[in-house]
Amino acid sequence: MQELDVDKLRGEFPSLEREVHGHRLVYLDNAATSQTPRCVWRAIEDMYIRHKANVHRGVHTLSQEATDLQEATRRSLRDYINARSEREVIFTRGATEAINLVASSFGSGFPDGGEIILTVMEHHANIVPWQLLQSRKNLKLRVVDINERGELDLDQYRSLFNDKTVMATFAHVSNVLGTINPVKEMTRIAHSHGVPVLIDGCQAAPHLKLDMQDLDCEFYTFSSHKMYGPTGIGVLYGKEELLERMPPYQGGGEMIDHVSFSGTTFAELPFKFEAGTPDFVGIAAYCEAIDFIGRTGLAAMEAHEEDLLRYTTARLREEVPGIRIFGDAAAKSAVISFLIGNEHPYDVGMLLDGLGIAVRTGHHCAQPLMERLGIPGTVRASFAAYNTRQEADAFIAGVKRVAAMLG
Ligand code: PMP
Repeated sequence: MQELDVDKLRGEFPSLEREVHGHRLVYLDNAATSQTPRCVWRAIEDMYIRHKANVHRGVHTLSQEATDLQEATRRSLRDYINARSEREVIFTRGATEAINLVASSFGSGFPDGGEIILTVMEHHANIVPWQLLQSRKNLKLRVVDINERGELDLDQYRSLFNDKTVMATFAHVSNVLGTINPVKEMTRIAHSHGVPVLIDGCQAAPHLKLDMQDLDCEFYTFSSHKMYGPTGIGVLYGKEELLERMPPYQGGGEMIDHVSFSGTTFAELPFKFEAGTPDFVGIAAYCEAIDFIGRTGLAAMEAHEEDLLRYTTARLREEVPGIRIFGDAAAKSAVISFLIGNEHPYDVGMLLDGLGIAVRTGHHCAQPLMERLGIPGTVRASFAAYNTRQEADAFIAGVKRVAAMLG
């Protein structure tokens, strides 16, 4: 495995040198969005300075360059996730839009009374689109529970399939608990019942090796901004034969073959699902983020993040009286959700911010999970490859200080 040179890596992220309230920033809100390396925003600048022309429209040089740069990112993503073809890689405005696309377009074919299996640890982005569809189609949502470690109850998952099940959908990695779900096995179980699968990979794509052909799921989605890329871009992977059969999600320019008032025909994949001018500047720069991960080495990044997770968890458990950490799965990503005694997460988060430490507080867009855990929210620290043991130490010292302040 490639060695990770964290100091060198940090040199690519000037934002990490910022001061907040007189302290060097310790950025531990990476599950919400990661910081962005120089190569990515330089690429954005380069797009605006040299290649700002609309894609797939012009014969002129700038338009062709912009189109080539956008399509190069699609090919990079195809390789990053090992899709069969770039026709299976659709650009959206985010994972949220991708899930809405599937619920709206693929879901339009669900029969009335169908059942969708999802899990109690889903982000709202993978709950509400199905609820919107539910109100139109009289669908039933069946929810898989977790055990005390924050792992899915696979026996219950298996037992929920029946002849009404039309879809199974679940997070690859929980944004609150850090649990890495056995998605390949879960997909295999769904397929044994003839049920298609959508995986929300937002928290997996920046950390884990992805292989669509091996996973064999029908749909998979993630967002660029959580994986060192620009904001406002999501990716929907879908199996070509399903995407071919699905109706368009939105109508407009770019997604048509021919328009007339007597009828319109649609463009081929993937453009059928990409109505309107895409964020071609961001998409082109996203390629740099994928290259950055490739250069740095995903396995080395993951090993480093896991070291930070183990180190920080052990020390918090040992040194902070009254701490409760939510999520202790055998397979866990570098996310630590916790509460100190009965202190409100906002108070803890505000005090940590005063020490220059950025963590997330609240329900993390997972209110059903909070309800299941019987808590209003948590404080969440989440690591990226550029975080260091010194930052983990600063965070642990900060938590101890805040715990003492709050008594
Ligand atoms: N799913 C999960 C697990 C997430 O963590 C997030 C982002 N917090 C989303 C979906 C939604 O992603 P986006 O806001 O980028 O569309």
